[in-house]
Amino acid sequence: MSRHDVVIVGARCAGAATAMLLARRGLKVLAIDRGTYGADTLSTHAMMRGGVLQLSRWGLLPRVIAAGTPAVRRTSFHYGAEEITIALKPGDGVDALYAPRRTVLDALLVDAACEAGAEVRYGETVIGLLREGERVAGVATLDAEGRPRAIHADLVIGADGIGSAVAREAEAAVLRQARHATATVFGYWAGLEIDGYHWHYVPGASVGAIPTNDGLHCVFAAVPPERYRAAFRAAPASGLRAALQAVAPALAARVEQGRQSSGISAFAGRRGFFRQASGPGWALVGDAGYFKDPLTAHGITDALRDAELLADAVARGTPRALQDYAAERDALSVPLFETTDAIAAFDWDLPRLQSLHKALNAAMKQEVAAMLARATHLEEAA
Ligand SMILES: Cc1cc2nc3c(=O)[nH]c(=O)nc-3n(C[C@H](O)[C@H](O)[C@H](O)COP(=O)(O)OP(=O)(O)OC[C@H]3O[C@@H](n4cnc5c(N)ncnc54)[C@H](O)[C@@H]3O)c2cc1C
Repeated sequence: MSRHDVVIVGARCAGAATAMLLARRGLKVLAIDRGTYGADTLSTHAMMRGGVLQLSRWGLLPRVIAAGTPAVRRTSFHYGAEEITIALKPGDGVDALYAPRRTVLDALLVDAACEAGAEVRYGETVIGLLREGERVAGVATLDAEGRPRAIHADLVIGADGIGSAVAREAEAAVLRQARHATATVFGYWAGLEIDGYHWHYVPGASVGAIPTNDGLHCVFAAVPPERYRAAFRAAPASGLRAALQAVAPALAARVEQGRQSSGISAFAGRRGFFRQASGPGWALVGDAGYFKDPLTAHGITDALRDAELLADAVARGTPRALQDYAAERDALSVPLFETTDAIAAFDWDLPRLQSLHKALNAAMKQEVAAMLARATHLEEAA
C-alpha cells in the first residue's frame, strides 16, 4: 500500500502535463499508464496555437524544436480549387505551430513530469477505484505480472482517454453528446516537400498533409462513417489513395512520388462527448472528460489547456475549485465542440464550411486569450 496526494491514470498529453504541473507545485504525484514510455498512439498530432502556447509557457517548446519537429508557419485551406493561406502571426512565445509525433511529445511531457518530482509507472493497469464512504480514495491496479496493488490518494485523476476506466468506475455522467463522427485513415510519407499545414475539403471528404519529425508528413483522409465502412475499412491504403486523388489530385501526385514510411492507421470514428468533470475524490482531464471529432485537430491543445485548468483547481484544494474547473473547461470547449460537430456532419457546401472555419477560428482565439489572461493573472499574483 502507498499513499499519494494525486494519482493520475494515463501518462500521455493530458496525464503527463497534469502530473508535471502538480509536481511543480510540490504535490506528491504518481502517474500510472498501462502502456510503455515513448509508444505511439492513434493521432495525426497537429497542434493549434493554444497547445503550442502551453508548451512555450511551460518551458518545453525548445525540447519539441530540439527533437527536429519542423516549424509550421502557414496553414493552407483548400476549398475545392480555391486556396486560402494564412500566415501564423508570431507572438506570446509562439512563432510557429508544431505537429510533434506522439512518441516525441508524450515522452517529453513525461520527462518533464519526472524532473518536477512526479513518479511515472508504466505497465500497470487501473482496474478499479478504492472508496472511503462515498469518496474515491485511490485506485486498484494490476502490474505487468498480474499482481494486484492498492494505491491510496486524496485525488484520482482520470487522464485515461476515450474509454476511461476512471470515468466508468466513478459513474461520471455524460453531459453532452455530439451527433456526428468521422472516420480517419492516415500514414507517413518521406520526400513530400510540402510547407505548412494543408487541409483540403470537398463535400463529403477531407484530406491533408501535416509536416512532422524525421522529415515525414502525416497524410490523412477523413470521411463519414458510412463511406469508411464501404470503401476504407477493408482496404485503408487504397481508400486513402483514392480519397487523395478525388479531393486533392496535386497532393495525391506528390504522395505517389514520395516514399511511404509506415503502414496505414485507421480510426473508425466516435461521437464526441462531455463527461462530468469531477466528483468526490476524482476528476477527469483530456479525452477522458471531453472528446470531440479529430477533424478539427484540437484534442492535444484541449488536453494541455485543461491540464493547467485542473492543476490550478487542485492546488486551490476546494470542491468549489473543481466546479470552477468544469465550468471553465465547458465555457472554452462548447463553441469548439459544437462547431466541430457541424463540420463532422459532412453535410455542408464549401461556403458554409468556410463560415464554420471562421467560427472555429474565433473560438480558438477566445481560448488563447483566456489562457494568456490566466498567465498574466498568475504572474501578477506571484
Ligand atoms: C485519428 C485521430 C487523429 C487525431 N488527430 C489529432 C490532431 O491532429 N491534433 C490534435 O490535437 N488531436 C488529435 N487527435 C486527438 C488526440 O489524439 C487526443 O485528444 C489526445 O490523444 C488525448 O490525450 P489524452 O492524454 O487525454 O488521452 P490518450 O492519448 O488516449 O492517453 C490515455 C492514456 O491512458 C492510458 N490508459 C488507459 N486506460 C488505462 C488504465 N485502465 N490503466 C492505466 N492506463 C490506462 C493509455 O495507455 C494511454 O496512454 C486525434 C485523435 C484521433 C483518434
